[in-house]
Amino acid sequence: MGERILLVEPGYKTKFPPMGLMKISAYHKNLGHEVTFVKGINEPARFSYWDKIYISTLFTFNWKETIDTIWYYFRSLKEDSSRIAVGGILATLLKDDLMNTFGFPPIPGVLDKPGMLGFDDKLIVDEMIPDYTLFDETPYEYTLIDDCYFGYSTRGCVNSCEFCGVPILEPEFIEYRGLKPYVNQIKELYGEKHNLVLFDNNVLASKKFKAIINDIIDLGFGVGAKLDKRKRHVDFNQGIDARLMTKEKVRLLSKIAIHPLRIAFDHIKFEKLYRKKVLLAAGFEIRNLSNYILYNFDDTPEDLWKRLEINITLNEENDLKIYSFPMKYIPLTAKDRSYINEPNWNWQFIRGVQRILNVLKGTVMTSRDFFYRAFGESTEEFIKILHMPEELMMSRGKVPGANEIDWNEKFTSLTKNEKKKLLQILCKYRDRKSLNAAISKTKSLKLKNILEYYRKHEVEDKNFKLFE
Ligand code: SF4
Repeated sequence: MGERILLVEPGYKTKFPPMGLMKISAYHKNLGHEVTFVKGINEPARFSYWDKIYISTLFTFNWKETIDTIWYYFRSLKEDSSRIAVGGILATLLKDDLMNTFGFPPIPGVLDKPGMLGFDDKLIVDEMIPDYTLFDETPYEYTLIDDCYFGYSTRGCVNSCEFCGVPILEPEFIEYRGLKPYVNQIKELYGEKHNLVLFDNNVLASKKFKAIINDIIDLGFGVGAKLDKRKRHVDFNQGIDARLMTKEKVRLLSKIAIHPLRIAFDHIKFEKLYRKKVLLAAGFEIRNLSNYILYNFDDTPEDLWKRLEINITLNEENDLKIYSFPMKYIPLTAKDRSYINEPNWNWQFIRGVQRILNVLKGTVMTSRDFFYRAFGESTEEFIKILHMPEELMMSRGKVPGANEIDWNEKFTSLTKNEKKKLLQILCKYRDRKSLNAAISKTKSLKLKNILEYYRKHEVEDKNFKLFE
């Protein structure tokens, strides 16, 4: 029997399976080692013997859970750092913090050279065909694994945007990675998959873009492609750079089964460019789009509403389906999700947006009717909604109830200064006890009256009637 290898992904929820671990698994299996995967804290795994434990990391805001997981397994090895390796995004962006915490260095960046895991062979982990059987024995389900080829046709990016980790994670831009042999090998080893998910950071920056498109077509993912009578989809899931969308590149994109086309709309100042590129795509019959909308960066709540509304209008005027995905900006190395870009945003507003998005499961609907119900019919109404007590905000129905009407009247009668004061109280006293104390201390009767609505009640999501 060869060495016994344990691969661990911390317990946080992820949409995609950990590709790095899938490749490490393939690498070790290639060397004849026995590989086991576990998700998060796992007692039986802790008490087994492992020659080496690898732990993947993802977003830095998962710091606490990641660290707890590393400690758990590190202690099980009696803190023998030669038998543990930590890699991935967090490990790259916060490598010094990890070093200070555990006293051993993580493996930053991509495993793109031989010997990076400390074994003496010529294999390059990043070039291994990911092990699609790695999760067979785990109860944790990676839903897309059976359905998708996961891969890259390029690596890195030519830009260095302020809020993006790619320049640090993948500093070298690789124009072309042979997609065909890669996908064909997955097919051979693990069977045919329905869809193709590509994690390219900026595929349009590649000078080999045409060759990439031809590869995708040759692999059976041309426009209209079907497998077993079901449509196949290609998803560049990190998004397409709108600035690089020329007529020729969009024409090429329209030759593959792209679904959806993901474009970012990071700031309202890009409105003209964004509209132009969406219409360019529509001109080539690319009608299903998905739109990352960054907020809490250098925007305002009004900007967010406007960008969402622009998508609704584009849908109506051009027979499109653009799904908006508002994404809260969190600094690149933040260790939790609490960051608020004040004064444009504040705790009450951020919380309000997140509560609405929770009900929508993260995606903003494509129709105006629902959009208005959730976000209001104007920026003023949106701001008013964001001031609402959570319970009232979430239970807005088609017809406003008596409480909503009453709260509305009270809110509208406040002066600008009183609204400001209200917001200050709400942002400062976030828990029930301190808010109640603050309400008791408030001298203004008008404020006191409206604040009564914010005394917290425990209400579960399922009781919210936003769309009934
Ligand atoms: S273009 Fe995209 S991938 Fe490249 S640095 Fe900017 S945000 Fe990151």
